[in-house]
Amino acid sequence: MWNQFPDNDIFSDLSTLVDDLIHLGLQKSSLCSTTTTTTITSPTTSVVPSAEGEIQVEADEAITLLNFISSHFSVKPTKYGGRGCFADTDLAQGTIVHECSMPLSSTIARPFRKEVCESCFKFLHGKTLKFKLMSRMNNQYNSTSDSSLALYFCSQPCMDKFIALDIDDLYRESLLNVESLFIKSLNQCQYDLKREKQQEEAEIEAELKLENELKQAKDIELFISQKWKEAEINCQLQLSKLKSKQRKNFNNLIHLIPKINENEYMEIKYIIGILFQMYKRDNCENNKLSSSSSVSLSSLELQIFQLLQLNDIEKICKYPYLIHSYTNKIYKFLKISTLEKLQPYIIPSIIRSIIGKSLTNAFGIWSIDEPDGNKEFFGYSLYPSASFFNHSCNPNLIKIKKGAKIIFKLSKNIKKNEELCINYGNSINDDLEIRQKDLKEWFFDCLCERCVEEMNLKNAQK
Ligand SMILES: [Zn+2]
Ligand SMILES: [Zn+2]
Repeated sequence: MWNQFPDNDIFSDLSTLVDDLIHLGLQKSSLCSTTTTTTITSPTTSVVPSAEGEIQVEADEAITLLNFISSHFSVKPTKYGGRGCFADTDLAQGTIVHECSMPLSSTIARPFRKEVCESCFKFLHGKTLKFKLMSRMNNQYNSTSDSSLALYFCSQPCMDKFIALDIDDLYRESLLNVESLFIKSLNQCQYDLKREKQQEEAEIEAELKLENELKQAKDIELFISQKWKEAEINCQLQLSKLKSKQRKNFNNLIHLIPKINENEYMEIKYIIGILFQMYKRDNCENNKLSSSSSVSLSSLELQIFQLLQLNDIEKICKYPYLIHSYTNKIYKFLKISTLEKLQPYIIPSIIRSIIGKSLTNAFGIWSIDEPDGNKEFFGYSLYPSASFFNHSCNPNLIKIKKGAKIIFKLSKNIKKNEELCINYGNSINDDLEIRQKDLKEWFFDCLCERCVEEMNLKNAQK
């Protein structure tokens, strides 16, 4: 569908595509529900309202939506579980089967925030980028004359693009707010070393306590959802001690904001990107300034985002400290510091779902794409419609990145119904053991043809 059109046409065609989807009887309300935590595993799933009154996407609607991703392939269940992309017809090498013009959200690691373009991820050999977007708000928490408090771009068009996609500077101010609070929390500790030490000890204690509880939990899912609920209650309790007037002044809140590390900083910026897209979807009709075309592009990706699988349980079981990081740090930071317009989205089910879906679906942003080069990790981005390509150690698709755009091109001829696969890891040229170990980060045992063949060969040699 949309990958066939040249850049300029993408937006206009997408808006008609969205209209088509709605015309086909897709209930916009159910697909766009802000609180959906959908996990669709079989085509027979039906609407199951959960305890919090969330609407889950009906499987038939999900399938219809997924089939709009590309005219070259369909998203279907695979033999080995989950979903994958299967060719609709025989396809020739070189065919572009899918193209995403920009991510739904992206985040840049803190050390590179002045060197990697916020719009196109361009990196100019470590030079500080020249185009800076400062805060427009002259209020209590951004009043510092600190020039580092800015978003950085490689060019005027990149900066203009960011501004054009924003709504009332909400995304800009939200990102700068995270930056400002991160710096403030660092500085605060500098002046009070004793307090910092105490805080650190308390953090470690809380983290260990949670890890132990997790090990003893009989029902991991129940335990995790309980911790999210507790995080919400704790935040409410702390905020309730302040008068509403006090709450509007961030100086009164700064002592409540948890100290976060650079990974959490990166995750928070990523979450804000998704929350902003939700806000945009829910408010775009009232906003004359925004171009409706960009709204429909991200709105379609947001609908597909709702269909992605949550992988937080596997991740937390492997790295138990994350439960503390997610609930007591990331969530708390967001709940206490996020600007008013995004506040309605800061609820456990939404934030947990955003984190859980990004774990195995996000694409890394690297300095160079050559597999053996010395790569630098700049951050990550999410393209929901490109999340259904599974991994193979003998892939038939190559990813081509052009700025923030990502293109999927066939590297060989393929037959109808063959699965379209990309390579996830960094170890495609390594032996079976190294590849399998590398791929464990994505929580699966690779059973691609190459792996099965090599396993059989190894077993035969024994
Ligand atoms: Zn740029
Ligand atoms: Zn494999």
